Amino acid sequence: MRDRQPMLTVAEARERMLESLSPLEAVRVPLLDALDYALAEDIVATEDNPPFDNSAMDGFAVRVDDLRGASEGSPVRLRVVESLPAGFAPNVAVVQGTASRIMTGAMMPEGADAVVMVEHTRSGEDWVDVFEEPRSRQNVRFAGESVRRGDTVLRKGKLVRPSELAMLAALNVPFPLVARKPRVAVISTGDELTPLGQPLLPGKIRDSNRYGLIGQIREAGAEPLDLGIATDDASVVEHKIREAVAQSDALVTSGGVSVGDYDVVKSVLESLGELRFWRVAMKPGKPQAFGEVLGKPVFALPGNPVSSMVVFELFVRPALRKMAGRSDPFRSPRYAIMDESVTNDSHGRTNFMRVILTERNGELRATTTGSQGSGVLKSLVLANGLAVIDGSGASLGDRVEVIVTGDIQRADHSTI
Ligand code: AMP
Ligand code: MG
Repeated sequence: MRDRQPMLTVAEARERMLESLSPLEAVRVPLLDALDYALAEDIVATEDNPPFDNSAMDGFAVRVDDLRGASEGSPVRLRVVESLPAGFAPNVAVVQGTASRIMTGAMMPEGADAVVMVEHTRSGEDWVDVFEEPRSRQNVRFAGESVRRGDTVLRKGKLVRPSELAMLAALNVPFPLVARKPRVAVISTGDELTPLGQPLLPGKIRDSNRYGLIGQIREAGAEPLDLGIATDDASVVEHKIREAVAQSDALVTSGGVSVGDYDVVKSVLESLGELRFWRVAMKPGKPQAFGEVLGKPVFALPGNPVSSMVVFELFVRPALRKMAGRSDPFRSPRYAIMDESVTNDSHGRTNFMRVILTERNGELRATTTGSQGSGVLKSLVLANGLAVIDGSGASLGDRVEVIVTGDIQRADHSTI
């Protein structure tokens, strides 16, 4: 029955999945704790920044009118009436024929409309010779130049990076409202899985998925909760899943969702909640499921190492970012020129090929990382992107969509 469901494209499946998820609740945190969280409110400036007109240079606050025609050859002498360090308000106005010595960041005195750099002057105790004719407003930073009171400076959903921390501090926001990060439980399933450090018995393999997925959860801006390995035993899997959802905001499992005799994850999830076993037209990736168990979203990923991580990248990452309140759950689409021909043998599904992206002469180029088998972890280790290959494939020189997942090396002809 289920197999007669129409196949969804990746875009359709993602849209349906995201529709059913909402950001977690907002919490107020001390400013420094907000790093790497998403804002849960618009930030409107209640103060101008800078708060007052101030000097951008060490020099002299002057009146442009006094310095018409001033040059190295014919300097203009002004009387110095005050010295202004940063942090203090001026007491004396600059009137015709006078100037105030001024430091960077100090408040502009009344009457002055420009600052001449100290390098363009020579001065004594109470006089200065000015060697240039300044432009009006030269070297002055004006009140509200960066941010005006009433401006919406940062939008809800924006990630707080170091630069946002600085802006929030500049705007006097000691306790910003941010979305809570999802806590995501991870369970590996399979009788063949052996924890690290234990000898591999015949027929057993290492549990690598859990490590890859936990890394991806962290990289997506969420907090992993490692629940270890469950054997292919329905009661063990059920116990773990109940434990997981009780302690987390979302659950990620790997393995046990295809149609083999020991694929118990699927039946346990179905018995505990509402699961949608989607037929998504993608490779690698089938089989996979998304649904809700005991009120928490669950992502049941395939067991094959490459498949589990690619499905995470395409589905779980945007889901967790949406739950974390991010307004930009997806990576921005990019395009690359194929440096080789590739065949899509996936029968009408979109093939997400692991590729090495390099930038040459301002253009991204893509080559595959070799064997694209769903168990070949090396294809991911070598890759810094996924090429989105539809139809029967792509030819050398074709422009294809790519998902950039890692740093891009530059290989400009000029630098080789
Ligand atoms: P399954 O989806 O359970 O049928 O597993 C598909 C393939 O992925 C099998 O070859 C499993 O041995 C392998 N596999 C499942 N779970 C893991 C894991 N946690 N780490 C590495 N390989 C796994
Ligand atoms: Mg299995």
